[in-house]
Amino acid sequence: MSRNKNKKKNSKKMDLKKIEDGIRLVLEGIGEDPERPGLKGTPGRVARMMEDILGGTHIDPAEDLEVFQDERHDEMVLIRNIPLYSICEHHLLPFAGVAHVAYIPKEGRIIGLSKIARLVDTLARRLQVQERLTKQVADILNATLNPLGVMVVIEAEHLCMSMRGIKKPKAITVTSAVRGSFRNNPATRTEAMMLIRGGYPGGRES
Ligand SMILES: [Zn+2]
Repeated sequence: MSRNKNKKKNSKKMDLKKIEDGIRLVLEGIGEDPERPGLKGTPGRVARMMEDILGGTHIDPAEDLEVFQDERHDEMVLIRNIPLYSICEHHLLPFAGVAHVAYIPKEGRIIGLSKIARLVDTLARRLQVQERLTKQVADILNATLNPLGVMVVIEAEHLCMSMRGIKKPKAITVTSAVRGSFRNNPATRTEAMMLIRGGYPGGRES
């Protein structure tokens, strides 16, 4: 529901006509005929697609991060494998992968798990670089929740690496941002990494 609301708000700031005109120029620049049947509808389709996949551009990602008070929670919360699709701002090609987000609540302040996935999604649906995306997720959670610590790890494959330039298909770029106790306490960081990898600290398997 709020995604539709966001989309409406977003479309006011995106100039689809301008995107269409631009894509037509790109097709001409490639040496294609934008009027041939296969390409006739392409500029319009690309413009509408961009409205969707870059739909987080004009949304304040912190706006629906509602914080709850629950004194029973003072241990690490980790969501792993949040699916992520974004667009590299250097090449306008996708990068895709997963985000893992961990935090340790302070004074019982927590946030809905779906809101964390939504935060990743909103920030990913912009022209991005993976390092900045990782940092933004960590900093917004840190500012909103003021937790004991936040850790964000993103693993993604970049098509600008896989299909062009150095051509390294399947290479995964891993970035992390750590704040608070995850930065200061190596044991806490190790515990989070173990949980991200799907095991328990101490070597027991789940
Ligand atoms: Zn790139």
